[in-house]
Amino acid sequence: MSREPAPTTEAVSRLIQELNKLPGIGPKSAQRIAYHVLRTGEMENQSLAEAILQVKQRTKLCSVCLNVSETDICHICSDEPRDRTKICVVEQPQDILALEHTRKYNGLYHVLHGALSPGEGIGPDDLRIQELLDRLRQGTVTELILATNTNLEGEQTAMYLQRLIAPLGIRVTRLARGLPFGTELEYADDVTLSRALEGRQEF
Ligand SMILES: [Zn+2]
Repeated sequence: MSREPAPTTEAVSRLIQELNKLPGIGPKSAQRIAYHVLRTGEMENQSLAEAILQVKQRTKLCSVCLNVSETDICHICSDEPRDRTKICVVEQPQDILALEHTRKYNGLYHVLHGALSPGEGIGPDDLRIQELLDRLRQGTVTELILATNTNLEGEQTAMYLQRLIAPLGIRVTRLARGLPFGTELEYADDVTLSRALEGRQEF
């Protein structure tokens, strides 16, 4: 078998391969970015490389809501004027970004770090549900807003939490149906997300 001559250097190929592993970056985009990096000055590349390395080193999870944070308690949990009677449950930290962007919510959050998916072997013990129950047992929270994605996994997770938490006497609501089925919160637009939040219903 004859091999085609390599169209580029090993270093460039390696960068393309690494970029191609990122979500939303297909082979074409990976090539474009790799050649862009090659043209870019050393200072800028250094800055990019450092940002990638430091993001893990300087970021931990908030000990209360499990959002990403540089401090032990994140800026949302330590924001005194926030409404501490409401907790909005999301799958991933980036969902908090989307909800905060709407400026329609002033309560606290809880990040599950995933969704139930029996097919992939992800059960309740793989999510940060125990931490949520511990927070609810403190007695301050009166409403729990389930803001998991509207896909199959997100709906299963919402139903599981509803059954678990309703007996505790806490009002459980779900984002309004304005969000089309299959929506991942982080990609929902501000207007749709604001409406879904304002029109939340008993679940
Ligand atoms: Zn927090």
